[in-house]
Amino acid sequence: MADPVVIATWPFGKIATDISGPQLVAGKAALDAVIAGAQAVESDKSVRSVGFGSLPDRIGRLTLDSCVMDGKTLACGAVAGLEHIRSASAVARRVMEKTPHILLVGEGAKWFALEQGFKLEMPHTVEGLREWFEKHPENEKKPVRNDAPPEPQDINIDERNHDTVTVIGLDQAGNLGGVCTTSGLAYKLPGRVGDSPIIGAGLYVDNEAGAAGATGVGEEIIRIAGSHYIVEKMREGKTPQEACELACKRVHASAARRGVHTARVAFLALNPKGEVGAACTPKTGFQYAVAVAGRTEMRTAKEIPM
Ligand code: ASP
Repeated sequence: MADPVVIATWPFGKIATDISGPQLVAGKAALDAVIAGAQAVESDKSVRSVGFGSLPDRIGRLTLDSCVMDGKTLACGAVAGLEHIRSASAVARRVMEKTPHILLVGEGAKWFALEQGFKLEMPHTVEGLREWFEKHPENEKKPVRNDAPPEPQDINIDERNHDTVTVIGLDQAGNLGGVCTTSGLAYKLPGRVGDSPIIGAGLYVDNEAGAAGATGVGEEIIRIAGSHYIVEKMREGKTPQEACELACKRVHASAARRGVHTARVAFLALNPKGEVGAACTPKTGFQYAVAVAGRTEMRTAKEIPM
């Protein structure tokens, strides 16, 4: 019987591990426990980058991205650009369980959620909308749709307003499960999808090798298929720590090939033995929550220089 372990990104990951950790100790399956933890973060309006109360896109719409993956069967499901539904991770799970597909987007994802009995809700908070108006008054003046290509500043990523909760757990039966859920980058271009709902980028889980998840500027994580890369490194025999560090080096190498600075990204990983690792690029200041036998402690990830 494995000792249950659960890890989650950022200080708000503790909201998740405080729920998932005791559930794993009580014998719950990894996927059930991590989704329960992620849902607590999605419902917490004080978390400004996940679920309810998170920050909107350029045109004021609040859209959510999420995926889930079961390490025993490699079953997975995801939604992107989901609006007006509280828990994107719960809908991602339904995609996994009730459809032959893996990823549903936008209106289709919402239609599916409604058909599955999810309620339509208004996820904006007054503070979130006020901040959007204050930061983006140009939105009122500028036409959002036009035929001209976007100016470079239109596609710049606001690095200050994002973060994802990625929760990965190992249950007593030795199964791994993971979930990733976010509103993505604040003030993103409408329709932008990051790494978080992309299986292999924001999350990958395989009982036979390990599980990994990501947070940070999603474009850089997708570019190297970050979570899948880490899991494959663990399959080759690397520890979770070594594999996360290698992923950061890969992000650096990909930035160097384009002649740009590395963006802020962070990875965390868990192997079937319950060993944990995490690493991030410089200035990310990545903290994560780890619960072993149900008790959470916060750790700071190693920054990997360029
Ligand atoms: N990875 C997320 C995205 O790019 C944001 C984050 O985790 O900070 O949508």
